[in-house]
Amino acid sequence: MSRRRSLTIQSIRGVVYLLLVIAIFPAMLAHIVQNYRAFQAAQDEAIEDNAEFAQSVATAMQTYINELRHTQQAFGDTLIALPPAPRGKLNVLLAHMAGENPTWRGVCWLNPAGEVLAASRPEMIGCSLRDRTYFRTVATGAAPWAISNLYRDPITGAPTFAVAQSVLDEKNSLRGVCLVLVDPQRLDAVFTFRQPPGAAFVLIDRGGMLVYREPKLTVEWKRRQMLARWPTLKRALQGKDVTGTMSGMDGVRRIFAGTPITSLGWAVVAGDPEQAVMAPARQQFLRDIIFFVLLCITAFFVGLIVSRFLTRPLGLLREYTHHVAHGELDRRVVIGGPAELAELAVALNGMTAELQEHTSALDLERKHANALAAHETRYAATLRVLIETVPAGIIECDREGNIILLNPMAVEMLGEEAIGGNVFGPMPGFAFYRADGTPFPLPEMPLPRALSEGTVTRDLEYRMDRPGGRETILLTSSGPMCDDAGNVIGAVAVFQDITPLHQLQEERELFIHTISHDLRLPLSIIQGHAQVMEEELVETPNGQTLKSGVKAILRSTSRMNVMIQDLVDSARLAGHMLELHTEPVELRPYLDNLLQRAATGLEVAHVRLEVSDDLPPVCADYARLERIMMNLLSNALKYSSLEAPVTISARREGDEVVISVTDRGSGIAPEDLPNIFARFYRARGARHTEGIGLGLYITRLLVEAHAVPSADGKGTVGGRIWVESRPGVGSTFSFTLPLA
Ligand code: ADP
Repeated sequence: MSRRRSLTIQSIRGVVYLLLVIAIFPAMLAHIVQNYRAFQAAQDEAIEDNAEFAQSVATAMQTYINELRHTQQAFGDTLIALPPAPRGKLNVLLAHMAGENPTWRGVCWLNPAGEVLAASRPEMIGCSLRDRTYFRTVATGAAPWAISNLYRDPITGAPTFAVAQSVLDEKNSLRGVCLVLVDPQRLDAVFTFRQPPGAAFVLIDRGGMLVYREPKLTVEWKRRQMLARWPTLKRALQGKDVTGTMSGMDGVRRIFAGTPITSLGWAVVAGDPEQAVMAPARQQFLRDIIFFVLLCITAFFVGLIVSRFLTRPLGLLREYTHHVAHGELDRRVVIGGPAELAELAVALNGMTAELQEHTSALDLERKHANALAAHETRYAATLRVLIETVPAGIIECDREGNIILLNPMAVEMLGEEAIGGNVFGPMPGFAFYRADGTPFPLPEMPLPRALSEGTVTRDLEYRMDRPGGRETILLTSSGPMCDDAGNVIGAVAVFQDITPLHQLQEERELFIHTISHDLRLPLSIIQGHAQVMEEELVETPNGQTLKSGVKAILRSTSRMNVMIQDLVDSARLAGHMLELHTEPVELRPYLDNLLQRAATGLEVAHVRLEVSDDLPPVCADYARLERIMMNLLSNALKYSSLEAPVTISARREGDEVVISVTDRGSGIAPEDLPNIFARFYRARGARHTEGIGLGLYITRLLVEAHAVPSADGKGTVGGRIWVESRPGVGSTFSFTLPLA
């Protein structure tokens, strides 16, 4: 990743530099070519100047030699035209001539045999020069004049060259030779023209010896041999123009041009210091180099800035994506640089924000899922413990009816052999009977029905005969288990052994029967006899006392009867053995009639009825409603003073009718109100009055038995009872009945 990034950045940098190089390179090339041309031009110009200069030197030298020869010729012609002069005079004349020519080292007059007859320098007189090449050349008539190469003067040892001129008479016979010895050091008198600054020239004899140099240099004899170090010179001495570059005697490198002095067989080479010639071009070149170096440095920094401008955002983006990839989703990146990259950064920020949102949502979901899983684990554990410990048998079977789970209680009830059985198959030794005693066919039992029909069974009671002859009454609920698509994938049944409950119920039946029959029988005998006695009793002085005693017996037996009835009823109601026979009841006539009948046993004189005639009929059990009303009315009268009014009212509220009994009696303390409808509950203030605390309990059960499901199926209509009471003010007992 990092390598790829660095390569990308490198390549961007490379491309930027390449572009800069492409832009700079042609200009650089053009400048190099231009500089090369400038060098060439400077060199050519220098060569041309030097060639011209050398030519001037050559011309000056030639002119000098020519003039010198004329002087010699004139002297010789004069000498031979005049009568022979004494030698002494001649020597003085020659010395005078030499003195007049600054370049001359000496001058002498030779006879045709080569002997020095007269000379400007006395030491030369008498010397024989017949073997000298220049003398032989002019003496033999090969040429009218001749010039020697540079040689060392035999007397002074100084470098010298000689110019010999033959002197002929009218008959062309050689009369003598005029010889001038030239001191090359003094030739500066010949080369008087202005020399360009720095320029130098050399005069070379035909043997390659340095004759003269301007500017002057003290040169040893050995170093005067120029050919050895400068072979090109040979070509100039052969009569050709030469050019080139070389290091001069002064060690300065020069650009030179050489030209032959044809008449002498000598050559002139002039040169300018290369340094000076090339300086302007070099300076220009240097300037160009500096310019291009600066340009390259600038280009480098421009490239760096441009590439940074391009790569820095890339680097930032890369760093950003790296952080995001490591989960730092709250990061955002802000970059400059190219608009596209800035847009990319904005898009990336947006993406990250979205990712962050999704991740948070996922985190939330994961937390939720974890909580759910924990909950499910806990639920499963709870379920497992419940299944293991619940005091009821649980059977689970799969789609095919194979029993796959039996809890310990189920194993206890059905035996080990049930494990691995199938609910559709017969259970050897087991027999099942319905509540009415008829056999219970296997396919109609709860689990097979749940599997095959999806039927939910609730609280089904049936009998099971187990191997060993034990009878068990089972209360079973079962239902199918379905998948998400609603397909039955198994079934579960929960069953309870209610045999002891059954036995208890039977015992209660027996108890109720005993109370209602065996206890009431002697009571009704007492009651009957007491009534007879009441009628038979004669008015005696003591008769009144006896009669009131019999009346008390009758009242007590009647109360006991009511109490027995209450006990029986409460037992029956608690055992859900109550069966209602409901019918539409017109409340107004019903209550009128009830009051009339109650008048025999209750003080109903102050009872008021507030029931409108158009009240719709209610749905009630005639006899049970009478019991409800009698309980409430008797309580209202019992817990009020004799004159206190009692009101019975009824009003319609929606689908039901509210019936209320209001008294102005003692009322009920707030702390007693929550338990007032409980079995055997009596308020503290009522302990001295008759009663056993079953009246309101029975009343509540009877009212609740009248409840019917509401039209929308979501609740019930009727069947509610409540009390509103304030101590010392009175109480209102209200209950509801459904409309018929
Ligand atoms: P009891 O046989 O004692 O009357 P009930 O179940 O009929 O039993 O009444 C329970 C208690 O409720 C009574 O003991 C009494 O204290 C109180 N009670 C019932 N009706 C009234 C009433 N109308 N006024 C005051 N107290 C009442």
